[in-house]
Amino acid sequence: MSYLNANQDVEYIREVSDQALDLMSEYNVIPSPPNYQIWYNYAAEEDMSLTKAIDDLIRKKKAFTSEVCANLHEKFFSTNKEHDAVSTAGKGIQKELTRLAKTVGDMNKDTFKYSSALSDSLEDISSIPGGQELKLIITSLLENTSEITTRNTSAQKQLKDSAQTVQKLQAALEAVRQESLTDMLTNIGNRKYFEESLQKAIADDLKTDDNLCLVIGDIDHFKKFNDSWGHHVGDQVLKAVAHSIKTRIGDTGMPARYGGEEFVIVIPDTTLEKAQEISENVRQSIAQRSMKRKSTGESIGKITCSFGIAQYRPGEHRTHFLERADAALYKSKSMGRNRVTLEEDVPQNVVKMAAG
Ligand code: GH3
Ligand code: MG
Ligand code: MG
Repeated sequence: MSYLNANQDVEYIREVSDQALDLMSEYNVIPSPPNYQIWYNYAAEEDMSLTKAIDDLIRKKKAFTSEVCANLHEKFFSTNKEHDAVSTAGKGIQKELTRLAKTVGDMNKDTFKYSSALSDSLEDISSIPGGQELKLIITSLLENTSEITTRNTSAQKQLKDSAQTVQKLQAALEAVRQESLTDMLTNIGNRKYFEESLQKAIADDLKTDDNLCLVIGDIDHFKKFNDSWGHHVGDQVLKAVAHSIKTRIGDTGMPARYGGEEFVIVIPDTTLEKAQEISENVRQSIAQRSMKRKSTGESIGKITCSFGIAQYRPGEHRTHFLERADAALYKSKSMGRNRVTLEEDVPQNVVKMAAG
């Protein structure tokens, strides 16, 4: 990510940097480079998960000890970079091995040509006086050439095997990455996945000038549900809701569990009206589903969800985009829940209240 896009950004960077340093001083954070990275990012609201993690710590009045800061850094900065570095290196190695295998293959072709030329000479030489001695020399050269070919073929095979091993390692690395982006309970994307897909969708949207919508859904009165049926049954409901979202939206959007009982769907290349239709479809499928306790089959009634949708405004920060969708969700809740609200229906003061 580049913070320095134009001259005017310098002013912004200074401002964010001052804010970061003020915050670090306020919360007694040791001003080390990794800590500065964390707080700069927080002040710039670059990563919503990081913002939320720090806000939670502040709210709970937790001290930002070296250990807490090291954990934050590890969680939000180190792993990605390491993964990216390993992945890039892996791709480089694989490419290099494939190139070497090709070079050895080409060498083998040349050796074969050389060997054929020697064989031809062997035939031509018989008629020449003293040809017998030359024949012995050329036969010995041919034997050596054949050995070289055998060794080259074996080296080529080894290089091909190595390239395949690197490919397998990369697939394993990708599987780990997928796991790190998946919510373990519901098996859909997690918050990190959401952050990545939203960032990418915004970048794509700015390039293509298509519509981009964001939906936030929140299970209605879920606390009461948990209190009545217990957390375990609550977890089953979360899985069922995630499943309904996933199956209803298919390939049209990227669903994720934002946290707790909140879900988000990034829907690229879709108008607000179409996104409303999709969300309405999801809402109905959840509301119509009669939930059953898995262990006993006992009916646990119905569950409903409220939704809010916003359409991306080119140039806006994704945090603001999310706030607008959240404001629409807030409206769905205040209007009685189990409904879908478009951000454009929300009066400006409600947007401000929710965002503030
Ligand atoms: P509202 O309709 O206004 O959204 O009400 P609510 O009760 O759903 O909202 P509130 O934010 O008060 O409570 C959310 C509840 O979600 C609290 C907690 O019991 C439950 N919850 C959050 N995460 C999980 C989870 O991972 N598993 C289970 N079983 N429950 C969770
Ligand atoms: Mg909630
Ligand atoms: Mg809720």
